[in-house]
Amino acid sequence: MIVMSRGKSFKGTATKQIEMRRCVACRQVRHKSELLRVVKTAAGEISIDNATKIFGRGAYVCKSASCAANLKKRHGLDKSFKTKLPNELYEKICDEISDAV
Ligand SMILES: [Zn+2]
Repeated sequence: MIVMSRGKSFKGTATKQIEMRRCVACRQVRHKSELLRVVKTAAGEISIDNATKIFGRGAYVCKSASCAANLKKRHGLDKSFKTKLPNELYEKICDEISDAV
C-alpha cells in the first residue's frame, strides 16, 4: 500500500511521481490524469474511480470519446477484469468521459 500524503511540510518541488498508465482501448501510454480509472474492488464490484483512491485492480481508458466508444464496442474491460461487464457499465463510462471532456 502506497501512502500518498505525508503531511503539509511537503515543498512541492521534490519527487512527484509520474504515473503512466496504458489505455485498454487504444493501448497508448498516457499520464494518469488523462485517463479514467475503472476499478474492481476486493468485493468484486466494478466501479468508476474518479478520485483514484479505491483500492483494487484498476484498468484505464483515455478520457476521449473515441476510446470510450471503442471500449464499449469491444467490451475492452472484460479481458482486463476477467469477467463479463454489463453494458450499463460501459454506458456509464461513456457518460463519464463525455462529461469530462
Ligand atoms: Zn485510449
